[in-house]
Amino acid sequence: MKLAARVGQITPSLTLAIDAKAKAMKRDGIDVCSFSAGEPDFDTPDHIKRAAEVALQQGKTRYGPAAGEPLLRAAIAHKLQTDNHLSYKAENIIVTNGGKHSLYNLMMALIGAGDEVIIPAPFWVSYPEMVKLAGGTPVIVQTTADSQYKITPAQLEQAITPQTRLLVLNSPSNPTGMVYTPDEVRAIAQVVVEKEILVVSDEIYEKLLYDGAEHLSIGAVSRDVFDRTIISSGFAKAYSMTGWRVGYLAAPVELIQATATIQGHSTSNVCTFAQYGAIAALEGSQDCVEQMRLSFAERRSAIMELIHAIPGLTCVKPNGAFYVFVNISKLGLSSLEFCDALLSEQNVAAIPGVAFAADDHIRLSYATSMTTIERGLERLTSFVKSRF
Ligand code: PLP
Repeated sequence: MKLAARVGQITPSLTLAIDAKAKAMKRDGIDVCSFSAGEPDFDTPDHIKRAAEVALQQGKTRYGPAAGEPLLRAAIAHKLQTDNHLSYKAENIIVTNGGKHSLYNLMMALIGAGDEVIIPAPFWVSYPEMVKLAGGTPVIVQTTADSQYKITPAQLEQAITPQTRLLVLNSPSNPTGMVYTPDEVRAIAQVVVEKEILVVSDEIYEKLLYDGAEHLSIGAVSRDVFDRTIISSGFAKAYSMTGWRVGYLAAPVELIQATATIQGHSTSNVCTFAQYGAIAALEGSQDCVEQMRLSFAERRSAIMELIHAIPGLTCVKPNGAFYVFVNISKLGLSSLEFCDALLSEQNVAAIPGVAFAADDHIRLSYATSMTTIERGLERLTSFVKSRF
């Protein structure tokens, strides 16, 4: 069958593919230690589930406004004000089918042929593909472990051309787990304003910070940068709501209206009763978020200690999200070869760095049990030793 040309320009999500393979192996009874999932292993907190159940019973089962339930839009605006010092109203918010969909909507509303979007690498797999789907050109800026995989203001300035429309900033980062310090955010903000570009700040991991790391939302730096900022986030990672598919975008009204029009002709509203769960997530106690963060912190310490004990592997200590990004270059294998062999020989699933434009790395998610971390790292140790 002849497919549209745009299909040929994008690659399937390697992270979803490997996670699906690991899950299928588990279903077949194979004892797999999986570090592939980009999702918390906790159940959604009870009070959130109950709010959705009540909404179901109350008949919140019908079509709603394409841009989202007014109560949820208002609750998100309130959260952005209190948590992030960003002055948005409900009309500045659109509720989307996850953070992935919010970014997709954004690219469709903002980016067209000839527009360049700057993406620091290593990057989350979907950014360049979304830009291409929208007809734009991703401009990849490579970073290294020396700058903790963060783009510097000088690198950003160099990458900007008259065609640059947007910078994608992701802190805390998937896949590296790095967090831009407030000073680093301010320095990037200065370039954004001076060069008159826009920035989308993907803040989906903002609640998962360790070792005193601080999250500064770039829009809070100044009024000038606020006007050039779009916030993308969602409920998946902080509230363990990956399957609920609720995310959001915050931006100037004109842009939100454009995304709502696109959404009105594509998905319409996000599942109505799921949105009531999201309201409970924002308005209820945040203790559940802190409890999960503390578990992740404990696992991060454990996995870092075990990785450091493996000769040949190196890793910058992450201070956000739930990933460690491990340098495998000393082994002389491509990341795909490494991950394929690791899965078939040791039943350990990891994501090859090539998916994030870093073929000499692998990504391990520690959003998994301590037992899996201990057993999986024992197997990884055997695997690496067998290669030296
Ligand atoms: N942004 C980043 C950096 C992510 O890692 C993810 C999910 O893995 C998303 C956005 C999208 O999350 P969701 O669509 O599940 O809300």
